[in-house]
Amino acid sequence: MERCQWCGKDSSGYGMVVLTIKEGEPSQSICEDCYNRYMADMLGVEDYKDFENEAIFKDCDGIDHCFQIGKKIHPTGICWETIEFIEEDKVGYSFEIHQEFEEDSNDALKRLYEKIKKGLSQKYIKREVFQGYELISFKENLVEGRIEWDDRYDDRTPKFIIDGQEYSLEELGRMMMSCEGWNFKLEIIEPTE
Ligand SMILES: [Zn+2]
Repeated sequence: MERCQWCGKDSSGYGMVVLTIKEGEPSQSICEDCYNRYMADMLGVEDYKDFENEAIFKDCDGIDHCFQIGKKIHPTGICWETIEFIEEDKVGYSFEIHQEFEEDSNDALKRLYEKIKKGLSQKYIKREVFQGYELISFKENLVEGRIEWDDRYDDRTPKFIIDGQEYSLEELGRMMMSCEGWNFKLEIIEPTE
């Protein structure tokens, strides 16, 4: 738990913003609401609040996923972010979109919802049980996911969130071994794209 230094509200670390107002002064850790209010005032834009903070979507296997929805107002536009918390500090699916200030927030939210639906509409990893062992493998030749820091190791080891589930570098490597000898291409995509 972290406490907002402006309003005192407790928050899970997610959504907290570290803000430095003046160079040389200590930075402050504040909650998303305080940050958005401050940015909206400074930029003279609307701090749109009339949206559902939570939404449930079904994936292609009929499994429910509960998303927390939030936004951050940046000088360049608004970043809408939706996160599925699997456990307190564990994130499954997450999606982001960028809203220009000219765009209607409801249209931006529609785009976010579409992105969630599209993200849940297919899976990339197949899990099977074979002679008591769980085998994981790629369904097709394409895998999409998110790169995160694996805090079980040093700061140089990533983990991968695919189909809303965590896979270690070693697990991903093992799945790739079924394609040994093949070529691959790696494309890195911005989270708002
Ligand atoms: Zn606050």
